[in-house]
This record gives sequence, structure tokens and C-alpha cells, in this order.
Amino acid sequence: MLVVKKFGGSSVADRERIMNVARRCIEDYEKGNDVVVVLSAMGKTTDGLLEKAREITETPSKRELDMLLVTGEQVSVALMAMAFQSLGVQAVSLNAAQVAMRTTSAYGQAKLKRIDTERIRNELDARKIVVITGFQGINKYDDMTTLGRGGSDTTAVALAVALHADFCEIYTDVDGVYTADPRIVPNAKKLSEVSYDEMLEFASLGAKVLHNRSVEMAKRYGVKLVVLSSLTRAEGTIIKEKTSMEKMLVSGVAADKNTARISVLGVKDEPGIAFRLFNLLARYRINVDIIIQSVGRDNRKDISFTVARTDLQETMKIINDHLEMLTADSVSADDTVAKISIIGAGMTSNPGVAAKMFEALSGANINIKMIATSEIRITVLIDEEDASRAMRVVHDAFSLAD
Ligand code: ASP
Ligand code: MG
Repeated sequence: MLVVKKFGGSSVADRERIMNVARRCIEDYEKGNDVVVVLSAMGKTTDGLLEKAREITETPSKRELDMLLVTGEQVSVALMAMAFQSLGVQAVSLNAAQVAMRTTSAYGQAKLKRIDTERIRNELDARKIVVITGFQGINKYDDMTTLGRGGSDTTAVALAVALHADFCEIYTDVDGVYTADPRIVPNAKKLSEVSYDEMLEFASLGAKVLHNRSVEMAKRYGVKLVVLSSLTRAEGTIIKEKTSMEKMLVSGVAADKNTARISVLGVKDEPGIAFRLFNLLARYRINVDIIIQSVGRDNRKDISFTVARTDLQETMKIINDHLEMLTADSVSADDTVAKISIIGAGMTSNPGVAAKMFEALSGANINIKMIATSEIRITVLIDEEDASRAMRVVHDAFSLAD
């Protein structure tokens, strides 16, 4: 078998953890498997490097910033290869240029295009453990690029695709994907399996276990992902296309506080207004989430929608600058809201799921401001101060606890 094992920064934060990771990889290697290890920079190294750049200039060139950031991962892989060697196992570290991991040219947000597997294959055939830098690539100018924060997960999945790995293990400081954030819902339970789509929803709702692009890629190529902890031996969560007969109706509850509601008031109730509004926002690359339009009265109506809270100021300015074109009286905003969602691939065909969620919220006297549904999630917008309580009552209502 060929296994790709990716370890995040916290898993290689110091000498002890590096040795621990090395020993765990050797267990796999000694079973006769080919082992490819992908590493992030140690601990908070990447943040530290960004800080160093900022001490020189507030506006570093993107090329030089990537040149700087890629050093973090090189430290990890070299030390890890030494760790293997000190334990008597042959290993070799490779950076993105040595492998030839080709990306698009955009510094800081490059996308992987092509991975040359020849060098890796040769090293594996020589029975070496191959330790590869995550997060980085080279572009058509042979310059170093990075894939965006958290990008090492995507490197690992891309290598699993290129090498036809049997699976890809992602080791982090949590030991899997939970039915809810255990810090907020203490009796949350670890899921043994989630589908790719569910995982993408969890991630988009702030449960940042994996880099989203890594899950998209795993889904596209059918790479089986396993999320687990490098510090415990607990079984992790498997992310794959679900085939199980007993799909869980609802897999989990997630909250997202990076949201704000905007209401555009008193626009004309006639064709083309919604188009003008959302086309305008699309032009400025503002992502809009839940949308509600009121029933018209006196030839006027209101349109409300949510945006990321980090986009609120900009969105308000854009709309205020275009009130006349939008035929609007005014625009208002509320940034003390939160989104709560239930996620589950099995709930589409089950009526009553939404009702159950709303019942739980009403029982806790929590007011719902907006509602949106998709095939695998139901989202409500509520007051931010109710968010933790809402998560707990909804989690209870669906009996997701142990
Ligand atoms: N070291 C990079 C970061 O901190 C990439 C990664 O860890 O995935 O974002
Ligand atoms: Mg990460």
C-alpha cells in the first residue's frame, strides 16, 4: 500500500513531537507500506515569518513573501528526514522544486496544476520514506509559490491523487470531526464517517479542520481522507462518498459568527431590481448568502441578505453609493447575528427535519430572523448572543450526543 500522511504545524512543533511523528510513520513503513509524509511549518512558524516581513515593510512583494514563507516547511522536512535517519530508517526530504510540483503563477494563492512523480517513485522504490514540503509549489517562472494559508492539506491530497495512494491521512490537533464544536457542546460526539459534501459544509461554517480545497479535490478524485490526531491513538473520522445504508439524518450542528445581515429597504416592486443589486455585489466580488425578499406593498418591497461580517463595511458603502440606481429608500445592517446550521446528507428526503430544528429553537425562546435550506443543510440566522445556546438545544433535539 501507499499512504500519504500529512502532519500540521502543531504535530511537528518541537523535537519531541517530531520524533513521535517519525516513530508513528515508521510503524507504517515497517508493515511494508510506501510512506509519503507531507509537513506544515513547525508550530506558528508561518505567522512568525509574516511578522518578520511586516517588520521590514507593510507591503512586501508577493513573490518575496512566498520566497520567505516556503522556508518554514523546508525546516520541518529536513528535521523530519534527520529524525527518520536517527532511528535507522532511510528517508529523504524534498521541496516543491525538487519534486516539481507545478502551480499557477499567482503568489500567495497558487493552485496546483501538475506533480511530477518520478523522483518520489524512485525514492520510494529505494525503500525510503519521502518527506515533502506542504503548502508550496513552483510556477512557470520556476519561482516559489504558496497555496494559501492551511494549504498543506491540499498538497497532501494532490500527492495522494498523483501517486494513486490508497488513502490520505491528515493528522491535526483534534482527533476528528465532531457533531458540534466540543468547546460549545460538551457532549458532542466524534463522527466515524462524513461525506465530502458534509465536510465542505462543516468547513464553510467555520469548523476549520481541513483546507476546503483539499476536500474538493478529494471528492473530485475519490481520495479517501482520514482525519486523526498525532497525539492520541484514537480512531479518526473518515471522509468519503457515503454508501452506508444507515446514513445519519443529521450529522452535526455548526455555527458561523462571521456573518451580518443587510436590508435594502423600499425598493421598487418591479422586474430587474434583485438583478441590479446582486449583479452590483458580484462585480465587487461580495459573496452573498441567505436572501429574503418581502412581499411587495404599495409597489415597494425590501430585500435582505447576509454577507461575511468582514465584508460588511465595504458592502454598505457600495450600496449607499448606488441607492438611486437600486431605487432604494435606505439600507440598514445588523452585525450581531450568527448562523446556525444542521448538516446532513440524509435529510433531503426526510420531511420534518426543519420543523424539528425550529421547534427546538422556539422551545428555547430563540427568534429566527432568516432561514435558508439546501440539499444537505438548513441554516437559520439568529441573534449572536443566542448562538451557543441554540447549538446545544438543536444538538439535543437531534440526539447527536453520545
Ligand atoms: N504553514 C502554512 C500555514 O500556516 C500551511 C499549512 O500549515 O497548511 O498556513
Ligand atoms: Mg491546517
